[in-house]
Amino acid sequence: MSQPQEVGYGRVFCKDNWTSLGPLLDITGPTGPRVSGFPENAIVQDALVNGNWCISRLRTRHPTIVFLKDSLPPADTITQDRGDDVYLWAIGDKPPSSTFSTHKHAFHAWVTTLNRLHSRDRLITWGMEVPSTCLLCIAADETRQHLYFDCPYSHQVWSFFTSREYLPSYVFDDAVVWLTNPSPNKNMSFILKYSVSRLLLSPSISDIQNIIRCRLDPLSRAQRNKPNVTSYLSTWFTYFQS
Ligand SMILES: [Zn+2]
Repeated sequence: MSQPQEVGYGRVFCKDNWTSLGPLLDITGPTGPRVSGFPENAIVQDALVNGNWCISRLRTRHPTIVFLKDSLPPADTITQDRGDDVYLWAIGDKPPSSTFSTHKHAFHAWVTTLNRLHSRDRLITWGMEVPSTCLLCIAADETRQHLYFDCPYSHQVWSFFTSREYLPSYVFDDAVVWLTNPSPNKNMSFILKYSVSRLLLSPSISDIQNIIRCRLDPLSRAQRNKPNVTSYLSTWFTYFQS
């Protein structure tokens, strides 16, 4: 089990004890890829930008991110010692996939999460004795509508990401319907869905921006050989960070 498997150019990311702590997926649990912003089939080189780990830029105190920051070896040892090796997340004994197809699943998982969201107003109706105020702004009662739209932090995120595509309604159910197809531009749709799915997992707009850039970078590299295709990163820089 401790021997790395040969896959493509190199070895399997999670089955190789490459951080000396054991497979990362075993330690972070199945939510590790989602929280870190890397899909389960991400390769190690996807996590590197300009010779540094993407997540080193994140300022969140989420325990999984803190753990990964502490556990990953210095980025320069990867680029110098590993050459062209490719590492993949894998689950259990299943072979890892080298294709990216997770964003649809991530979006559906997010919608499901919304419907199960334990906002404080719901906890109180279930008889739990918790403060009613929003954890983020402490200025209003915490409801699903407030958390996702009316809270100043959430409103700021929505305003930034919907500045290029008209969001017809800030009412929760309407916005979820709108998000199923928010733009005729495929890249824009992906960016909008992904940004909103990070809303309550990230402490700031800049954090969401960093995570999105990390996510778009490998996707854009995979598009390099496709003629007449505008890359995700190109769309990102054109509309959101020009
Ligand atoms: Zn609030």
